[in-house]
Amino acid sequence: ATPMATMVGSTLSAKNGVLYKGADVLEKARGIDTVVFDKTGTLTHGDMRLTDVVPVDEVAETDGGTPAADGGVLETTGEPTADEGLLLSVAASAESGSEHPLAQAIVDGAEERGVDLADPTEFENVPGHGIRATVPEGEVLVGNRKLMEDNDVDPTPVEAAMERLEREGKTAMLVALDGALLGIVATADTVRDSAKETVAELQKRGYDVMMLTGDNERTGRAIGDQLGMDPDDVHAEVLPEDKADEIDVIQEDGNRTIMVGDGVNDAPALTTAHVGVAIGSGTDVAIESADITLMRDDPADVLKAMRVADATISKVR
Ligand code: ADP
Ligand code: MG
Repeated sequence: ATPMATMVGSTLSAKNGVLYKGADVLEKARGIDTVVFDKTGTLTHGDMRLTDVVPVDEVAETDGGTPAADGGVLETTGEPTADEGLLLSVAASAESGSEHPLAQAIVDGAEERGVDLADPTEFENVPGHGIRATVPEGEVLVGNRKLMEDNDVDPTPVEAAMERLEREGKTAMLVALDGALLGIVATADTVRDSAKETVAELQKRGYDVMMLTGDNERTGRAIGDQLGMDPDDVHAEVLPEDKADEIDVIQEDGNRTIMVGDGVNDAPALTTAHVGVAIGSGTDVAIESADITLMRDDPADVLKAMRVADATISKVR
């Protein structure tokens, strides 16, 4: 693009809360046919809240892991029971060593319920899977099924409860203490106001719209379903280091992609996509890796950014 094109683009965009970086972004935006969204923090607010604390014994009491009439899952609102208290206390103490938004939700949820926490004496992140930590009660694992299986903890006693929570779009995490399954803690996030209409509008205009998430497939599909996305367009359980590869695979078919994301995990994918778009409240590394930043955190501004790029390019052409 000429300097004039860049100037026109920036002027229009600044007004709309859309910031472009680099003179070539408008050229790169030409011929885009696929829009890939990160889930957490992009299509959703990313303000996870602790919603459920499910001790393994309470699941077992309700018919061998089959959800009872009330769902078999105790929604924790008031004072936790003894089992819930232990489960939440070890999970939250272990997670106090992590900066992950899921960890923050568990710690905040425990504190709100008056549960005492201890700092872990040892702590290890297992990226894409969870954490391992040593707290006064023993060695704790918090994370997904893969984390449990890799550490010889059998998650099947709570499988039915896990699936119920995931179908609600929640992120359900297993908790183990010294190799024994203690139960589940689950968090929920809320979809951003304009996410659904943005997906619908993009689809109407003929774009392929996809979701990339490290979260469980059932959870990803539940959120995708709320947004009117096809289950096949939800790419779930993508490890942090594999997000960029997923973009490469999509582009190998000759597609031209925009990737929209907010996290550290998204940065390589934002660079790999033809156009990278960062959410303004996202991490610095995402913003640095992106061609475009949405200052208002509004997914609908993706449409605006694309429109401005189109208009500017056709004017210059
Ligand atoms: P996302 O990109 O969705 O934030 P991550 O790759 O960070 O996902 O994590 C993928 C999955 O690994 C999470 O859905 C969760 O099951 C598990 N996980 C990651 N970090 C933690 C953590 N600190 N505590 C518990 N589980 C975690
Ligand atoms: Mg994210």
